[in-house]
Amino acid sequence: MDSLKSVQTSPPETIALEAPTIAPLLKEVPDLPVITRSSPSFDELRATFDQTHAKPPTAIIRPRSETEVQAVVRYCFQKQILVVVITGGNDPGGRSCVKDTRAVLLDMRSLDTVVVSDGQKLATVGGGTTCGRLLQVLDQQGLTTPTAFAGGVGYTSWACGGGYGILAGPMGLGVDQIQGARVVLATGQVVDTADDSGDLLWALRGGGAALLGVIVQLRIKIYSRTAGLGGIVTFPLSEAPSIFGKLEELYARSGRPASFAGELMIINPPGSGGLLCFVAYWSLEDDKRDIDEAKAFLHSFAALGTVVANSVTETTPKLFTLSIPNPQLYGESIAYTVHSCCVDGWSSKLGRIFTQMPLPTATSSIVIHSSHGVAATVNDGASFYNRKSHLLIGLSGGAPAADEAARSVAASWAGKLQEDITSQGLAMDSGYINFSMPHTDDALWYFGAEKALRLRGIKDKLDPTGFWNHGVANFPR
Ligand SMILES: Cc1cc2nc3c(=O)[nH]c(=O)nc-3n(C[C@H](O)[C@H](O)[C@H](O)COP(=O)(O)OP(=O)(O)OC[C@H]3O[C@@H](n4cnc5c(N)ncnc54)[C@H](O)[C@@H]3O)c2cc1C
Repeated sequence: MDSLKSVQTSPPETIALEAPTIAPLLKEVPDLPVITRSSPSFDELRATFDQTHAKPPTAIIRPRSETEVQAVVRYCFQKQILVVVITGGNDPGGRSCVKDTRAVLLDMRSLDTVVVSDGQKLATVGGGTTCGRLLQVLDQQGLTTPTAFAGGVGYTSWACGGGYGILAGPMGLGVDQIQGARVVLATGQVVDTADDSGDLLWALRGGGAALLGVIVQLRIKIYSRTAGLGGIVTFPLSEAPSIFGKLEELYARSGRPASFAGELMIINPPGSGGLLCFVAYWSLEDDKRDIDEAKAFLHSFAALGTVVANSVTETTPKLFTLSIPNPQLYGESIAYTVHSCCVDGWSSKLGRIFTQMPLPTATSSIVIHSSHGVAATVNDGASFYNRKSHLLIGLSGGAPAADEAARSVAASWAGKLQEDITSQGLAMDSGYINFSMPHTDDALWYFGAEKALRLRGIKDKLDPTGFWNHGVANFPR
């Protein structure tokens, strides 16, 4: 649901009845878009990746400007009403789910303007813009930027948590694109990175979107759009040990091309026996002088195993990204257990772990992103931690929420895989907030001790009462 036009807001008398704690806010902002439980839009707007533990908020508020965000946040802070922020609703850790019926859900999706400036080098992006919308607007002007490879993912949340994607090799992670931001703090005050010592910008480049307040604007690097050779190359899961081993040899022999993404989704459609769906995307130079090199590389790539399907063709970041269907937000029907870890590269050992524990249900999946090239270059201006070349592995065990037995099988499958990767000596000492369920002291795992300490200090300064503790890492005291 992209535009406010299709959202049914609630009239003042309904707000007074169904969300009395919010009603006084209308004196300050009389036409504030508020959606209460009787609105036909209510459930659709609060849909998230997994809603099995979510409760309905007192109301959903959908601000249209920075000023409206300030008014809502200031009011809720004064009344001590919890504010949970949502953009795409894709957080696998439930960070955009309301768990307290007195809370307000702040839906950012009306703040989705994208303005290009600075000789087409910079875009000013509303805090509620999705990756798909950003790519569409930029593409119309012959431009692009790295994004998630699912169009429905919120750009701000993706970029501020880390931001892996098909252009990470040539252009870097999402955090590397952030040049500036405006954040509404708990008191309603707006802080701009341009007026700050540098701590705020550093924190937002990896600390997670919800760390300090509501991000109403990001200013990001953008690039000339070049073509790509890309598609999904699919192999049987049973060949994972051999394919991962050959991939390790290929990269050791000819180097890891920065232009090539080579990420992976492992899925298990009924009757398939499990499929390795490689995101084979080569980002071409603007004059396509590397097209023969790209074709030769993609040819060697397809020769790694028995190809079940190969959709590689000439494309663009926008066309390719939007061709990948955004997985459904299952709401209350599917429950997930998500684990993640990083390894330093492909190996037959990793492939064997996956084939020995095939996906237990059709809604379980494994996603592997790659950090190499520019993404694996140290950036001292960012709190994002793991700058060694690595693969990020997300393990999602999904099962029907009502089926306790299947849920338990899916949950232990995801946990056991993570344990096996660790016990066999493959896991690196780092995790990714955007792919993880919250757990005690997880900040140490996402940021390392030194960066976690600095982030905690910045949080203590800008969010001293911990009003925004809902969607953040757990910092040890
Ligand atoms: C289908 C799918 C595909 C994915 N693809 C990738 C990928 O290619 N690369 C990758 O690195 N990750 C990927 N992810 C992980 C994704 O980056 C994170 O889950 C991200 O946080 C989702 O953002 P969202 O806005 O869609 O989710 P939400 O659940 O709406 O938000 C995520 C978090 O950010 C907060 N938040 C949202 N907007 C704001 C704002 N404006 N200000 C302050 N806080 C805010 C929320 O409160 C929540 O804590 C994917 C996840 C899914 C489910």
